Amino acid sequence: MAVQQEKAEIHPPEAEELSQFLPESDCGKCGFPSCIEFAEALIEGEADPSRCPELESEFVSAIRSILTLDREPIPYNIMMEQEPCTLIEINNPGKGSPLLVTGNFRETVRIMREILESTGTGSFLLPTFTHGYSVDNAVHEKMFKAKEIWTALKDNSVEEKTGKSLMIIPGLAEKEKNAIRQISGWDVLVGPISGFLAPLFILSNRDAFS
Ligand code: SF4
Repeated sequence: MAVQQEKAEIHPPEAEELSQFLPESDCGKCGFPSCIEFAEALIEGEADPSRCPELESEFVSAIRSILTLDREPIPYNIMMEQEPCTLIEINNPGKGSPLLVTGNFRETVRIMREILESTGTGSFLLPTFTHGYSVDNAVHEKMFKAKEIWTALKDNSVEEKTGKSLMIIPGLAEKEKNAIRQISGWDVLVGPISGFLAPLFILSNRDAFS
């Protein structure tokens, strides 16, 4: 008899959070009565983002790319496999490109890398030591630590590469924001709960990285 494998959540995009990156004017021009209903249709693969005439082309293509990625949960038996805490350069970033901080669970890093690569987002991704915990588990177990982030920033000479001391932390780690700011002296933006929406968050905050 086949044994059903347990799966772990990867926080795929939800309509409410995705709709925050839509114009939120509920104009109905897309054929849906509200932006959140359009977001639901996007996630279900029942609409194309180009149906919203208010949406900039960069957002249209980023949403398309994100929604074609595999959003299936991952098997529990690979939990806590670790990735080195080495700065990853994605799509030829340069000074001013955004820095995203995450945990050092191998699958978290793989998925974030895939999301950023597929959307053509020039960025730096910094895995920080969380004992291989995914971000949600690391926050729960108090393993998503400001001190580890500071260590990874220094070990990788990140400021020399990004040209500024501004980082994006996962939305799931919001409560660590002040501690990270205090210990690192860096400015901190709290990103979305779903890492899949990170490229849209970066587009929405591009002035901060210019
Ligand atoms: S056309 Fe765009 S702004 Fe108007 S309801 Fe649809 S998603 Fe919202």
